Amino acid sequence: MNSIFNLTLKELEDILVSNGFKKFNATQVFEGIYKKKVNSFNEINNISKSLKEYLINNYVINDLKVINVLRSDDTDKYLLEVENGSVECVLMRHDYATSICISTQIGCNMGCAFCESGRLKKIRNLSVSEIVLQVISIQKLENVRIQNVVIMGIGEPFDNFDNLVKALNILTCPKGFDLGSRKITVSTCGIVPKIKEFADLDGQVNLAISLHAPSDDLRNKIMAINKAYPLRELMDVLDYYIAKTNRRVTIEYILLDEINDSEECAMKLSKLLKGKLMYVNLIPYNSTSHTEFSRTSKKKQDKFYDVLYKNNIQVGIRHEMGKNIKGACGQLRASYLEEK
Ligand code: SAH
Repeated sequence: MNSIFNLTLKELEDILVSNGFKKFNATQVFEGIYKKKVNSFNEINNISKSLKEYLINNYVINDLKVINVLRSDDTDKYLLEVENGSVECVLMRHDYATSICISTQIGCNMGCAFCESGRLKKIRNLSVSEIVLQVISIQKLENVRIQNVVIMGIGEPFDNFDNLVKALNILTCPKGFDLGSRKITVSTCGIVPKIKEFADLDGQVNLAISLHAPSDDLRNKIMAINKAYPLRELMDVLDYYIAKTNRRVTIEYILLDEINDSEECAMKLSKLLKGKLMYVNLIPYNSTSHTEFSRTSKKKQDKFYDVLYKNNIQVGIRHEMGKNIKGACGQLRASYLEEK
């Protein structure tokens, strides 16, 4: 049966009205599910018996079952069951807030050379409810209040654009889960036309770009997407996004030993980003047993940082969490499937 978590407020309003109910009933249902967190439609006590019956006959209030959890001090990693597959999400308890990193696809077809998720090809897109329920299910299970959502788990969010946008709409709906748009970050490997569509939504959701290389030569080698959308097109659409939204873009840059971590690369990156409303997040590589890549030394990492800093590029180094619990994107799911 259809999950109630697949529907935006507007969709539920339209469905209820076309079945003879009132538009405001949808708000009552949303408040019941997302604010009062009811487990059955019968618990929503301000709606009529006939509406309860209609909902019970057509929708379920479901959740995602946990297959496996790995815990460390500040980070818990979950493997969740979905129809014909599994997905990962990660709960991070920072001093300042609790954040969750969620997935958008089962597997990934983007084929980035260094990434564990991409080694296991895409089986399918996650549905709207499967995206939303990673947040709802973990919040319920752990009895925490999730304050930030990062969409950096398994999959390419912009390769599942329509479901992603609906899920964002549901999570930010003031009548429902009511998470601030600015508390959400979507990370993409750089699907240019979708970045434009995203800009045109005029939302406030943060955008992060997995750049990882400052030239086409190098980016072509490690990120297949660059052959479809080379750097010039990517930079142009980011200029468009910034002009349209006036929001700062985060540039993700994994430091890979002897691949993209030279001073020359740092200079090229500085030149590429100079004067743009962007922030570079340098990411220590999480080594996985299946790739030939390895982590840059602390010394080279600091040097890379210094070059950017001296060139007036806003830059930070990502604080690592969950390293001892297969923290890298896709590692938990991959090891689970191998055991099976
Ligand atoms: N497909 C999207 C989101 C998922 S990947 C994207 O490409 O942005 C989320 C981030 O994790 C990306 O920046 C990705 O490049 C990075 N990543 C993948 N494998 C990693 C690893 N082993 N160590 C560190 N970061 C990794």
